[in-house]
Amino acid sequence: MGFSEDLNRRATMIDSIRRFPVSFRLKASNMTANTPILVTGGAGYIGSHTVRLLAAQGRKIVVLDNLVFGHEGAIIDPGVELVVGDVGDQELVRSLFRKHSFGAVIHFAAYAYVGESVTDPLKYYQNNTAEPIKLLQVMQESGCKVFVFSSTCATYGVPDRLPITESSTQNPINPYGRSKLMVEWILKDCGEAWGLRSACLRYFNASGCSPDGKIGEDHDPETHLIPRVMMAVTGEIEFLEVFGTDYNTPDGTCIRDYIHVEDLADAHARALDHLAAGGESVRCNLGTGVGVSVKQIISAVEEVTGKKVPVKFAPRRPGDPDSLVADPSLAKQLLGWEARRKDVRDMVRPAWLWTSGPNHGRFPKNQCGA
Ligand code: UDP
Repeated sequence: MGFSEDLNRRATMIDSIRRFPVSFRLKASNMTANTPILVTGGAGYIGSHTVRLLAAQGRKIVVLDNLVFGHEGAIIDPGVELVVGDVGDQELVRSLFRKHSFGAVIHFAAYAYVGESVTDPLKYYQNNTAEPIKLLQVMQESGCKVFVFSSTCATYGVPDRLPITESSTQNPINPYGRSKLMVEWILKDCGEAWGLRSACLRYFNASGCSPDGKIGEDHDPETHLIPRVMMAVTGEIEFLEVFGTDYNTPDGTCIRDYIHVEDLADAHARALDHLAAGGESVRCNLGTGVGVSVKQIISAVEEVTGKKVPVKFAPRRPGDPDSLVADPSLAKQLLGWEARRKDVRDMVRPAWLWTSGPNHGRFPKNQCGA
């Protein structure tokens, strides 16, 4: 059977699986809709939106987060248990597995500052690569064989062609990307050795917040484009620095694929269903397939907020490729997933709602943990 025939066969199989309710689908791996799921880093940006969706679907979720970058306030569902601790604390993780008999793990916990990964690589290899190994060891001991992993388009490095497909060369250009790619390799090897089934979800540029404005993006320091444009609008920073205007793109600024955080959350729920139903391991790009430049983001923010963005043109930021745009068709074929929002204003509007809301884009300070 050829590769595309095989994909079509799987897509048909997944479509037919989707017609059954969650409770039926999950039985294929002895999971029921009530089987607890461990979510590491569930108090972070993408993690907390995913936790909220999974909890709303009636799933039992335990979040493990050390709150170094996570926010207690991002866990708003009272049925979700938050355990403050490290992924690499095997005694703690073992005790959680004994208590809850998790059917699956969704692993978000990681550091994600590319620049810092260059100056302090060991911090990234320790946290992003070595810690998940400790988690996987406990999963192996416990017989838990379903793992959903936050991977990244940074594993591709400078793409050899656009849009980026899953078969594009993975040649990361910084320790952050390498720390994630190594985990992808480890998951593949664990699949062959002890039957772990994994979904490596390669995110493009996460953006937006929940439509009710209750949870959103709160990083410290904040380096991402859309929140920084918001900060320039509110006066929190004097101006937005546009890093480079001489890229090989139509308006000279970098092009990225901005994907709504709730679309990312939906992909995790589908990946979980796919694996829990006995589906094979998958590696998928999660993007919209639409490229948007820095200047287009600024225009969209001005349109949505009705305010002028103060801008200063600055030199290129080291390590930024001209364009990163996903071909998201494999995720549609394998998981039945597609981004529902593709217009960049659909990312910018909620980001403004979060920034201009009662918390001004910040969660209250954590009461416990770091
Ligand atoms: N960017 C910018 N000014 C900023 C932050 C980001 O011009 O203050 C640019 C950055 O150079 C890149 C794009 O915006 O081309 C997206 O950057 P971001 O850090 O949001 O995501 P990345 O693509 O690096 O993961």
